[in-house]
Amino acid sequence: MVWICDKCNKEFASARECAKHEKNCNFVNEIKCKCKECGNVWHYLPEEENTIRSQAKNNALIGLGNLFTPTGAFFSNKSIDAQKELTKFSKCPKCGSANITKENHNFEKK
Ligand SMILES: [Zn+2]
Ligand SMILES: [Zn+2]
Repeated sequence: MVWICDKCNKEFASARECAKHEKNCNFVNEIKCKCKECGNVWHYLPEEENTIRSQAKNNALIGLGNLFTPTGAFFSNKSIDAQKELTKFSKCPKCGSANITKENHNFEKK
């Protein structure tokens, strides 16, 4: 079994070695998106997507429970913001097309 660094895809023989390496690894893993309609290119970090996804879900749940209170309204608005943010993971921010390609992109942080 080999262990692979999430950031630079380097292979290790043991989990311990891999974990040790990951702590010091200065590679960044990001998703590179390209719009097939207008040629726009943008990037985002996978962590960013996870954070916003869980945020959108939490906000929606809180908003639902407090729909008729000022707090509920506040969270509902928040959840709309998070929903908007989410579109950048599946749609072109420039022309709104969902006709996009995604690829993993690893690079060394300087
Ligand atoms: Zn690495
Ligand atoms: Zn586009």
